[in-house]
Amino acid sequence: QFPFGRRLPCDIYWHGVSFHDNNIFSGQVNKFPGMMETVRKITLSRAMRTMQDLFPLEYNFYPRSWILPEELPLFVAEVRMMKDRNPSWKPTFIVKPDGGCQGDGIYLIKDPSDIRLTGSIQSRPAVVQEYICKPLLVDKLKFDIRLYVLLKSLEPLEIYIAKDGLSRFCTEPYQEPTLKNLHQVFMHLTNYSLNIHSGNFIHSASVNTGSKRTFSSILCRLSSRGADVKKLWSDIISLVIKTIIALTPELKVYYQSDIPAGKPGPTCFQILGFDILLMKNLKPILLEVNANPSMRIEHEQELSPGVFENVPSPVDEEVKVAVIRDTLRLVDPQKKKRKDTQDSLLRVVSAFCITWSMKDKQHKHHSLKLSLKLKFYLKLGSCPSTEQAEAGEELPEAALPSLCLKQVFPKYAKHFSYLRLVDRVAALFIRFLGVKGTTKLGPTGFRTFIRNCKLSNSNFSMAAVDILYIDITRRWNSMGIDHKESGMCLQAFVEAFFCLAQRKYKSLPLHDQVASLIELCECRLAAVHGKRLVWG
Ligand code: ADP
Repeated sequence: QFPFGRRLPCDIYWHGVSFHDNNIFSGQVNKFPGMMETVRKITLSRAMRTMQDLFPLEYNFYPRSWILPEELPLFVAEVRMMKDRNPSWKPTFIVKPDGGCQGDGIYLIKDPSDIRLTGSIQSRPAVVQEYICKPLLVDKLKFDIRLYVLLKSLEPLEIYIAKDGLSRFCTEPYQEPTLKNLHQVFMHLTNYSLNIHSGNFIHSASVNTGSKRTFSSILCRLSSRGADVKKLWSDIISLVIKTIIALTPELKVYYQSDIPAGKPGPTCFQILGFDILLMKNLKPILLEVNANPSMRIEHEQELSPGVFENVPSPVDEEVKVAVIRDTLRLVDPQKKKRKDTQDSLLRVVSAFCITWSMKDKQHKHHSLKLSLKLKFYLKLGSCPSTEQAEAGEELPEAALPSLCLKQVFPKYAKHFSYLRLVDRVAALFIRFLGVKGTTKLGPTGFRTFIRNCKLSNSNFSMAAVDILYIDITRRWNSMGIDHKESGMCLQAFVEAFFCLAQRKYKSLPLHDQVASLIELCECRLAAVHGKRLVWG
């Protein structure tokens, strides 16, 4: 632990909250700049909406969502229209405050008029979302899945998924929502932090029973009932890749602002927590993405009234230790340098992970002792077990468990690359940002983009370009997302780009309009670049 920073550079920095916890200039950091902002409920819902507009079928794993307060009239109008079209439709909606976690402030409603407008919605924006009424039940209980995903690199995109995850159970038998049971959080919300307070919560020493189980134990059960578990995994992998493809444009804008191209480093990686709900028909639905998933492997137990103790949680330990151990294996800076002694380094790394399960008091002392030993073993290339590392002994080579993190991208890139359209729009945006360290496009940058791509003509004058810029930028900035910088944010640019595409290719569907405009811009910019080279 370096609470006050550290002068000597490290290979890997493990930040507790965000990329900005320290000023880092080299090595690898376990957080991407802007990740926390990008996965907030509102930002994620906006990014998903953009993808749903372009690829409605591919992105139907995210519930229809509206952003409050600004889309309240739209929400009311759309629900009314759908009810008129289908009078037997009796929907339920879930309202989730932006930036909330652990079920905080969440409530269910049957009708848009039930939204609690008093004060909080104005001061605390929220997402209202279609509630999935028919989840898959196990032992009559609703549950969700927490899957760990390693975003190892943004450019080129590299994604790994942990082969096992956690299933977190409700503690009251599930019933479809009615006005009577809407308020029963132990029936509808699967959050561990809520259900732990229910008298029915079961801490189990086994990973197959209780209120928190491994996902693999659920899969075994489903498989024994004849479910197509292979198809389920492939749907989950596809959901994860598509979600990350929706997040990368925004992440790239933050990345270039904090780590301008050409700088030696640092590079970033990050473990994300994906919360997924399975529908009765086994279709996975994305609930949310967590930038800082809990890595605790203990839980609090009340020994006697008012006396609590941290006790190991076997299910958390089984899943989380493997995720951290394998993340360190994959980002290990020594891997390239000394492939032959890699296994020995990994033994030390796994020894570190195991010590994290130790109680707090011992923790500092042991990590210090081990960090000194790690330096020593890195030099020697020997491989101690936890006990031996602590005792200062060395171990003969021993096989490590196989990787629990499975690479899914670029492995399956050819099935998903066609979805990366907004990524290409973001590349155009970044190209015209100009000043290093910024995330917003000024009016001059926008004009230069239009000029270089030759998008203005007698029907679309530069004055009209300026009006488009001002209209869209003003609206986005009034939504109060980020007042720190003035100018056009990426999502506003994407909206402007879609407008331009619709103007230019009127008769095509949105996806084809956008794809055609991207190709035109890329082609014209390549020509400009080519000319510059010739003149140069
Ligand atoms: P938080 O960050 O506060 O945990 P989530 O989006 O994860 O917010 O929602 C909390 C819980 O509410 C989820 O774990 C899930 O059980 C339930 N939930 C959330 N969204 C939906 C939905 N659209 N349909 C059904 N249940 C949902």
